[in-house]
Amino acid sequence: MPRLGSPKPLAAMRVNKDARPDIVPMVTEADDIPDSIAEIARAVAAGKLDLAQNLSVRIAASFSPASPSISPAIKLTCELQVRVFLRDRFTCRYCRRNTVFIPVLRVLSRLYPAELPYQKNWRWSETHPAYWKYAASCDHVVPVARGGTSAIDNLVTSCYMCNSVKQQWLIDELHWQIFPMQNTDWDGLSGLYGALVEAAGAGAELYHRRWMRALQAVSASH
Ligand SMILES: [Zn+2]
Repeated sequence: MPRLGSPKPLAAMRVNKDARPDIVPMVTEADDIPDSIAEIARAVAAGKLDLAQNLSVRIAASFSPASPSISPAIKLTCELQVRVFLRDRFTCRYCRRNTVFIPVLRVLSRLYPAELPYQKNWRWSETHPAYWKYAASCDHVVPVARGGTSAIDNLVTSCYMCNSVKQQWLIDELHWQIFPMQNTDWDGLSGLYGALVEAAGAGAELYHRRWMRALQAVSASH
């Protein structure tokens, strides 16, 4: 007969013996990051900076410094990437996660460097896990190293988590599938980008000028 009142084991404290020691699990709070980031971005875009500052505290709580440093290489033009993101509605074609336009995250990191830290090489200990989990990237379905090209039909929107797992593998080798393009209104918060850049006073920065130009060019051609 079980002893009444004995403490139940805490599931969160169990150690998974099969877990690879080099992989540090994300904190669960990070799962609501896209909503939180959307709320912060909307507050900044609406000029409600006090509200945005308060909201930013919520994402700071889920920051979990950990793990190795991998630097994501971006070799495609901004315009081609934007074309792919808008075509795929900023949805990861491998896991169907809503992704966020990286320049939006970068503006928010500029405004809230302590809560949403960013390091230019994406060093894990200095970069918010939201970048790794939710940032939109373009992935070569057939990797360049395996003979793939950078034609748009070999490119899909991928969250960085899927992108960093996929690397040089083919879809079949990973037993993955490519989900069809989603019919959704999600825009990766790119619709707020212009207002965010303005609110942050970042319009003169080359990085943002490049992405703004790409976003405007592709939006105009749609
Ligand atoms: Zn994904």
